[in-house]
Amino acid sequence: MKLLVYSAKKFEVPFLERANKNNYHVVFTHNALDSETAYQAVGFDAISIFSGDDASLTVLEKLRDFGVKYITLRSAGYNNIHVKCAKRFGIKIANAPDYSPYAIAEHAVALLLALNRKIVVASSQVHQYNFLQDNLLGFDLNKKTVGIVGVGRIGAIMAKIMHGFGCTILSNDLAPDPLLIKDYGIQYVDLEELLTKSDIVTLHVPLTHDTHYLIDEIQLKAMKKGALLINTARGAVVNTKALINALKKNEIAGYATDVYEKEKGLFFKDHSASGDIKDHQLKELLSLHAVLLTPHQAFVTKEALANIADITFYNIDCWAKGKESKNELGYETLIS
Ligand code: NAD
Repeated sequence: MKLLVYSAKKFEVPFLERANKNNYHVVFTHNALDSETAYQAVGFDAISIFSGDDASLTVLEKLRDFGVKYITLRSAGYNNIHVKCAKRFGIKIANAPDYSPYAIAEHAVALLLALNRKIVVASSQVHQYNFLQDNLLGFDLNKKTVGIVGVGRIGAIMAKIMHGFGCTILSNDLAPDPLLIKDYGIQYVDLEELLTKSDIVTLHVPLTHDTHYLIDEIQLKAMKKGALLINTARGAVVNTKALINALKKNEIAGYATDVYEKEKGLFFKDHSASGDIKDHQLKELLSLHAVLLTPHQAFVTKEALANIADITFYNIDCWAKGKESKNELGYETLIS
């Protein structure tokens, strides 16, 4: 089994090499998979991709023609891959679920605390020897209401952490979990009720047809004026244009996110030398003081990277031995 790892970042290569244990011939490329880089997979049985890679219909067609039989994702989300087409082409796909829901939930909490307590502003002021507190007013999380949209692996850890802060927890999910009701007293409500009653709304749904622009103009209007919106799910769960308008009109108080709807081709690269980016919408978003953006880094913890690497080679091992991986993906309706 020969494996080509697309979008290989320097910091993850040692974890992948350790997990491989020299069992397989592995080549790393920093290039993202797309219709122009697909040719690099010629001669490989399997490829590994990340969330910024493009495994849409035309790319999958090329991969099939080049003889690629397996794709293992180093991410939990798989909205960037056309699962149905891959199945039709006989390409097996597996993701890396559950590699560390803690890494993502903890990052969501870091974003929330940093936004609420103005940590980034405070730090940059103090570095310029400005020790005033005039623009650093936040609020206690204790006794506030947190709305968790999508209470799966990551959302459940978020519920546990926010319960620890003394928050009331409202949740919206397709399938309520009785254990979470028992352990953290969470109440399942419809999205509208969650949005109107929450001081903090945090998103943990996958990106699907149903969740694309789940938070749009109407939903933003429904939120409390002082509410904070946190997104560690996928950028396109929120309509950025509507969000910018809502922030400008003070319909919500702030947005902290690890993801952006048009991050493909932009994130995971250093554009600082040119000092510019072409995405005017992102520039406008970043110009707003109540916005905090991190570069899709929630998974960048030692534990998460080690687990992603182990899961990657578990998937490869299964396929090399002619077995099915427990992480293989089915026929869900997904956006590709
Ligand atoms: P999960 O499948 O365990 O949980 C998702 C939950 O969302 C499920 O409980 C599901 O029932 C619910 N859901 C699905 N559609 C819904 C809808 N329309 N309305 C309400 N609830 C809905 O997934 P997870 O492991 O918790 O991950 C969630 C998402 O987080 C991933 O799909 C991925 O996009 C994102 N993620 C981001 C990062 C990052 O680095 N920022 C890392 C990992 C995962």
